[in-house]
Amino acid sequence: MTRKCWMLALYLTLAIALTGCLPPAHQGGLLPGDENMYWLTDGFDFPVGDPDGGGWDITGYRFLQWSAYSNSYHPGEDWNIPGAGNGDQGKPVYAVANGEVVFSGWNTALGNIVLIKHAISPTEFVWSQYAHLDQRYVDKGERVYRRQPIGTVGRGPNDTFAAHLHFEMRKVDLPANAWPRTNGAAWDASRVTDFWLEPSLFINQNRPQ
Ligand SMILES: [Zn+2]
Repeated sequence: MTRKCWMLALYLTLAIALTGCLPPAHQGGLLPGDENMYWLTDGFDFPVGDPDGGGWDITGYRFLQWSAYSNSYHPGEDWNIPGAGNGDQGKPVYAVANGEVVFSGWNTALGNIVLIKHAISPTEFVWSQYAHLDQRYVDKGERVYRRQPIGTVGRGPNDTFAAHLHFEMRKVDLPANAWPRTNGAAWDASRVTDFWLEPSLFINQNRPQ
């Protein structure tokens, strides 16, 4: 091997070794400290009660239960303190995982809504949506951590409902007020699952280590 070739081989080896040890600088701005970095999740907890949802249950509409109220399949879970009536109004609602608030605002059908985007890997995302809130504690663009209180349980617009948390998990980027209907016609259940996840199932499968 000539000296020139040997130097080239050494240079290539060094370059591979060095870049192999460095963070991926050009994969969507993932360097620590980069303003565009997505904050990866470290697992998912339940949105009410203790991290396991203790003290609360889905006593309202379950995932994909037919909702006579909305004349469609229910794309989330309605969480309550069993037997509390409106006694759960004002109780804290927690971010289920680290993420970034992508919507925090009012909707005439769902009341106060917070929608959070979660990076489960640098390229894979899910969204959690919290509706009928009494108060919202976070704004669009804020980063939130798992178990951070992001609002309180409410009753929806004009106290339409008995107090409960309407909670959704989505695998597609949908508007905060998305609902599985088109021109008033309900989507079938299998189409709903193209866009929405079963919240409790997903959380139970992705608990913090
Ligand atoms: Zn609901």
